Amino acid sequence: MLEVQDLRKYFPVRGGVFMRVVGWIRAVDGVSLSVRRGETFGLVGESGSGKTTLGRVVMKLIEPTSGRIFFDGKEITSLKGKELLQLRREMQIVFQDPYKALHPKKRVKDIVGEPLLIHEKLNDTEVRDRVSEMLKLVGLNPEHVDRYPHEFSGGQRQRIVIARALILRPKFLVLDEPTSALDVSVQAKVLNLLSDLKDKFGLTYLLITHNMAVVNHFSDRVGVMYLGKLVEVAPTEELFGNPAHPYTMGLMSSIPIPDPKLAKSRRKIVLIGEIPSPVNPPVGCRFHTRCPYAKDICRKEEPIMEEVSSSHYTSCHFWRELVPP
Ligand code: SF4
Repeated sequence: MLEVQDLRKYFPVRGGVFMRVVGWIRAVDGVSLSVRRGETFGLVGESGSGKTTLGRVVMKLIEPTSGRIFFDGKEITSLKGKELLQLRREMQIVFQDPYKALHPKKRVKDIVGEPLLIHEKLNDTEVRDRVSEMLKLVGLNPEHVDRYPHEFSGGQRQRIVIARALILRPKFLVLDEPTSALDVSVQAKVLNLLSDLKDKFGLTYLLITHNMAVVNHFSDRVGVMYLGKLVEVAPTEELFGNPAHPYTMGLMSSIPIPDPKLAKSRRKIVLIGEIPSPVNPPVGCRFHTRCPYAKDICRKEEPIMEEVSSSHYTSCHFWRELVPP
């Protein structure tokens, strides 16, 4: 459904009196991946890893610096104008914060129904009917079409965001931290709703999250990003059962275990320090400044992606020797 090849997105850093370009933020720095039709591909990493930028480049909300993007068999890297508008019918995004994603002075009917006016030129009654039907599908009362966003709770607002994303019946959704702004009590409900809608409409998801528990529960395959690069890709069960990259192991160590005895006895890889600046990423393996297994070669040579097992790839010089905690 989606394929990206050697994708890069650099943002300029400006400085001095004339605001000249003095450097580049390498937010996404040579990522290649594919998302299969009907699957949920989870993209994980700490903030600053480049996963949100990747999601936005894929959605064509921002232009890539280089690389290629294919969607449903067609190259979309340089689509513009009418063709890009047409693509919007098929690809949609659910943003992280439902409080910011909804216009506070517009009614639900206008928020959810706006894409119908743009793409299908429906009249007011038709828009109202389609919006009511969609509200029902996302678990909201269809009679609330004339309410404003502030009259809903956080979980309900995220349902409105999802309704708007689905109103044109797209094939592909980027879910950018869809539950991280919500109370823990409603996170599971929204995730279950997304799972039901995926089955109902035959959707494909790119799920962007920093939450390993969410990605474990919800994804078919997972890609782990660090400082603009993909460092490991594997089917979810394989990744969680047999992680090969120290960064993935570190992320997993952060998942809380509800049993205090088990939690005390587990071996952990603690990720110390902050993710380095993407303006001057470390030479060699980008993770070497935080990796407990780093050796000399890691500071000089960048590891390449290698096959660990079928559909499982990682980029670490020493993955064969490491034992996951
Ligand atoms: Fe750690 Fe070296 Fe592997 Fe990088 S290549 S993850 S620094 S052991």
